[in-house]
Amino acid sequence: MPDIPLELLATHANAYASANGIQVERRKKDDPASAYFECAPMSLLPNAYPKEAFDQAQSVATAFNELVDRVSRDSEFLEKTLGGGVAEHDLFTAKILSLYKEVYGNDDSVAHTADRLGIQRSDYMLHSVKEGEPYRLKQVELNTIAASFAGLACNIADLHRYLTTRFAPEIEDYLLTNQKIVTASTESAPGVPENPALSRIPAAMQIAFNRYCKKFSGGDSANKIVLFVVQEGETNTVDQRMLEFRLFSDFGVPVVRMSLTKASSEITVSDDGALKLGDKEIAVVYYRAGYAPTDYPDGDDGIEWKARLTLENSRAAKCPSLGYHLAGTKKVQQELARPGVLERFFPKEDEKEMVEKMKSAFAGLYSLGEDAVPEDIDAVQEALGGKEGQFVLKPQREGGGYNFYGAQLKEKLEKNTSEGSDGSLKLSENLAEYILMQRLFPPQQRAILLRGGKVEGSGDSISELGCYGTVVVDPVGEVVHNEYAGFLLRTKFSNVDEGGVASGFATLSSPYLC
Ligand code: ADP
Ligand code: MG
Ligand code: MG
Repeated sequence: MPDIPLELLATHANAYASANGIQVERRKKDDPASAYFECAPMSLLPNAYPKEAFDQAQSVATAFNELVDRVSRDSEFLEKTLGGGVAEHDLFTAKILSLYKEVYGNDDSVAHTADRLGIQRSDYMLHSVKEGEPYRLKQVELNTIAASFAGLACNIADLHRYLTTRFAPEIEDYLLTNQKIVTASTESAPGVPENPALSRIPAAMQIAFNRYCKKFSGGDSANKIVLFVVQEGETNTVDQRMLEFRLFSDFGVPVVRMSLTKASSEITVSDDGALKLGDKEIAVVYYRAGYAPTDYPDGDDGIEWKARLTLENSRAAKCPSLGYHLAGTKKVQQELARPGVLERFFPKEDEKEMVEKMKSAFAGLYSLGEDAVPEDIDAVQEALGGKEGQFVLKPQREGGGYNFYGAQLKEKLEKNTSEGSDGSLKLSENLAEYILMQRLFPPQQRAILLRGGKVEGSGDSISELGCYGTVVVDPVGEVVHNEYAGFLLRTKFSNVDEGGVASGFATLSSPYLC
């Protein structure tokens, strides 16, 4: 523990958080008037993180950006991967896929004239293949829609840099104890790195915005806006607003926020493909909603889906386009990890290094659909018969809280497998919408977690690194902007299976590089 009363550190942290907007909204259900702001769930101090792994995550960000774009344009691959068992059992993914085909299968759609804007976050855990071997970076998932916390994460990094320098002598031993858990390096630690997310993400939006104005209005930005598509009742509003405010203060670009429900009655598309909101024209659509069935309360053929289609069928740049959204599904992630598949997207000789870099971050991923190969079946056998807790079962969902672990996972597999007449293991088609993933075991470090600005407790914790990347691609596939755009570290107690800050499992933290 730090050599200073925790309450004193927590008071500093909470005050710094208030002064710098590290806040989330809270309110009683269905009572907007009860809303107030409080300190976001956070780790009091940063967590030790090997610099080498951090650098690796950073250096592979642009490759994943390109990959998402190439996958998004390969309708044959998306149809083959998602159109069978997944679409049959997961109606949400089926709907996104069907809109994608409707819009991009039509050569006359004005959507073909739009740029694509990607604001991605690739998430990783450290994992050691064998006990005693160094920890390596393994990808948990790649988020292509509503990748959040860039705003809060920047300010948390600043907070952690403040605390670890202001109270350096009192915290030194605590940091060193954690450092020894993740690395044998004895070099002096560089500490919490600069987090450029809050400047680079708005910068990418501005690039897409400017290109739109140039292409369709001779550079005139009057009356042009960026639309943030948001959830009704969103509580992570400060994080979103930080992007909005920076977009305006750095570039003078105004934002309008709206749910899909509201968009359905307020936004129209004109004959030339311009999205209109009253006398304003939407140049860029940025989704912080639309990834969950609950964002479409009017149901399958409801007004929210119509709004999504209207937004897509326009010349505005979408973040993400339907193709990017699909490229971020867990099933696509699993398919990309199969031998030879990355090479399909990066066939050139000089792209080999990029392919190897991405591959080295893949964990074991297994299909449970009709396309399962013997290695996939072996993994299921192992999950059924081996030591419990070596796998995670994942549906095609976003936002945390949907995965199966441990005994629940085993039960689900047992219920949906049988022995064929030849003695082999048969998978029920109910499993096709899931993927099976090797469970990662990141190093456990001490952490002190705060909720509502108060110490919630301390104990062993594990962390997940998120690495943002932004990309802008023109209609014919020319990459006009592609860069690493900052980081996020989330920390949770080790006995918690799920992740996600908004879903209440994890807290925001920062890496203390060593
Ligand atoms: P979502 O899109 O809902 O965030 P994730 O794949 O990120 O889905 O899973 C949610 C959380 O579950 C992660 O943040 C992580 O804490 C945990 N998790 C997911 N995959 C693994 C894994 N392979 N090993 C260990 N934990 C995992
Ligand atoms: Mg996700
Ligand atoms: Mg996740």
